[in-house]
Amino acid sequence: MSVMSEAVALVSLGCAKNLVDSEVMAGLLTAAGYRMTSFPGDADVIVVNTCAFIGEAQQEAVDTILDLAKHKEAGRCRALVVTGCLAQRFASELLAEIPEIDAVVGTGDFPLIADVVRRALSGERVRLVGTPCYLYDENAPRILSTPPYVAYVKIAEGCSNQCSYCVIPDLRGPYRSRPMESIIAEVRKLARGGAKELILIAQDTTRYGEDIYGHPSLARLLREVCKVDGPRWVRVLYMYPTRVTGELIEVMASEPKICKYVDLPLQHADDDILRAMNRRGTSDDAREIIARFRQAMPDVTIRSTFIVGFPGETDEKFGRLLDFLKEVRLDRVGVFAYSPQPGTPAARLHGRVPARVKERRRREAMEVQKTISREKNEARVGKVFDVLIEGRSEESDLVTVGRSQAEAPEIDGLIYIGNEHPAPGEFRRVRIVDAGDYDLVGETLAPGAGEAGDARVP
Ligand code: SF4
Repeated sequence: MSVMSEAVALVSLGCAKNLVDSEVMAGLLTAAGYRMTSFPGDADVIVVNTCAFIGEAQQEAVDTILDLAKHKEAGRCRALVVTGCLAQRFASELLAEIPEIDAVVGTGDFPLIADVVRRALSGERVRLVGTPCYLYDENAPRILSTPPYVAYVKIAEGCSNQCSYCVIPDLRGPYRSRPMESIIAEVRKLARGGAKELILIAQDTTRYGEDIYGHPSLARLLREVCKVDGPRWVRVLYMYPTRVTGELIEVMASEPKICKYVDLPLQHADDDILRAMNRRGTSDDAREIIARFRQAMPDVTIRSTFIVGFPGETDEKFGRLLDFLKEVRLDRVGVFAYSPQPGTPAARLHGRVPARVKERRRREAMEVQKTISREKNEARVGKVFDVLIEGRSEESDLVTVGRSQAEAPEIDGLIYIGNEHPAPGEFRRVRIVDAGDYDLVGETLAPGAGEAGDARVP
């Protein structure tokens, strides 16, 4: 059977950085003549691009692999390929314990995915897991999995921050920035493809350029990205608190295209815990950086993530985190229960917190944040925002959903609109008429309406 008729289904798990890898793999497989399908049941080959950040993600990856393996018995699937962080970390275990797997490919080896698929289809069992050093560029064939008006741009790969609980530096290698020319060339390509919102991602975007230009260069990169015609919004995710510079804040505040949205994982607010996590900066540093963002951009939306149940976290230390949440009143918060990762320094720490206590603390922190999130949403009622239309809601065809600059895709709430159903990718001026814990309800305004006096119209 020739390559031309063979179909590949690619299932992408984990973060947006992994999603970009999946999109590059889809481009490489298509360039090699394979046909991509969204239906694993119709595929000759199934590729699962996995995550292994924490225990839950690892379990989800294994469950997904086992579930898709059923297509080898019941379906037409002849090769099951596992890529991504779980493959990088547990290649031998996967091959030993899941006989249905035909190939495992590391986080730096997926550029050879087409050859791996060819070998797996010819009956070879492939293990291709090297030292992660790959970094895609603008020439990598990439098939977007997001709607054409939204695109992630990976500006760097790997991480060198060495947080004591994290396996990513081992799975993705040391931090390596893409040359600015390569990023701008890709941004131009995405703009020609209709991208309206560009989302710059890396494990730590604020470290961009330190390795290749000798100094933080995210601010300069943002100015260059904003010069490219077409995209209307430029969003930055995954900032490291102590690496935020005055220049970065200034460019975010002064460039109209840059979303007034800050994603700033803080992880905890007790200084002893932050030290044990090997996180640079203290809770006071976090307060100061939040205040500087709010001073420069009064309407900025700040998202953060926290880990509860870290070894040594007493009720008192957890209490400091709750007090911090109530004090700084962030707009968006994700809270994760600590998941010990064998081989990390944190996994050898004493003072383990029982799972039920971790879960209770995670719920308690989310309850505190839910109240803050609702109050912040209620304060947006009556205000007008530019909203990027995403299409009909999954819940009902009678409702359209969209996002303002204050909502990042996939991780934040949505704005529900019932009075008009513009096409996906269009922008509308929307007045908020109601608020929920995480979502909002709005009405589109006639073109030009809602201009006067509405400071929040970007
Ligand atoms: S910044 Fe820390 S938590 Fe994030 S990827 Fe790097 S080492 Fe892991």
